[in-house]
Amino acid sequence: MFDVIKLDESFFVLKSPVNVGMILKGDEAVLIDTGSSSDHAKRIARILGELSVRKVLIINTHSHADHIGGNSFLQSKYRCRIFATKLESAFIENPVLEPAYLWGALPFKGIDNKFLLAKPSVVTDIIDYGISEELNVDVIPLSGHSFDMIGILTNQTNKRIFFIADSIVSSQTIQKYKVYFLVDVAKHLKTLESLKLWVENDVSFIVPSHGEVYNLESDQSMEEFLRLVELNKSVVHETVNTILNYLDVPKIIDDIVSHVAEKFSLSLDASGYVLLLQTLKAYCNYLFENDYVQIIFQNKRLEYVRKQ
Ligand SMILES: [Zn+2]
Repeated sequence: MFDVIKLDESFFVLKSPVNVGMILKGDEAVLIDTGSSSDHAKRIARILGELSVRKVLIINTHSHADHIGGNSFLQSKYRCRIFATKLESAFIENPVLEPAYLWGALPFKGIDNKFLLAKPSVVTDIIDYGISEELNVDVIPLSGHSFDMIGILTNQTNKRIFFIADSIVSSQTIQKYKVYFLVDVAKHLKTLESLKLWVENDVSFIVPSHGEVYNLESDQSMEEFLRLVELNKSVVHETVNTILNYLDVPKIIDDIVSHVAEKFSLSLDASGYVLLLQTLKAYCNYLFENDYVQIIFQNKRLEYVRKQ
């Protein structure tokens, strides 16, 4: 079982390595993400049973397997609707797209595990940014970590609670992996800046998908959160500089992967490799689009080189 943290009369966090948000109203529950697996979902269902919940709705913040892993079990048990943004829903309904995106072809053995490949489920409702009257939440764009990730801001009680999904990475994860997963560096930096603005916007609690809940009514907790935003930004800038310094002469992407892994002492298995590969491609796109590097085709290879 996991800890159930009650943030106000209607908002609960089912705390585990991947946090699930739950908005409770009578015998109805809106779940924000569904955890990493069917086993995780069974534990969620047990809690829903104890609370006499009959009707369930699911909002997926994004399509990564550790956030949608319980969808399939919960959808067949409760016949529930699933809400997600359009682009993320393509991955939720066709989970093979996730490892296929990471590798660039159908997945090979080694990246077809539960960390990268969830069971499929049906997205019944495409959700847009802004206030959803039906769900009584504000849907906030937080892309960068995935193509169209959203955060969920609750409106129903006197306390505003902001579930920020994977828009921020904990200091423990940074220590372990250093270069955390991104698909769009520029959008991620914009998302990090926007998180700082929300802090000044009457939000009482910030709930990341991984790690601790921040109670912004405590100065200490608010400062910790702001420090973490800065730490995330500094990791991005350090990674940018590491790549730029390395590109004094043309390099292929695999050289960049190997250099970054060496520099940050990362040990790579198949999953770790494809996650780092796509993340560093996203960094190279960012450097290319901002005119720091150029792409050249020579020796029948695509090479990146720093602009002088
Ligand atoms: Zn994620």
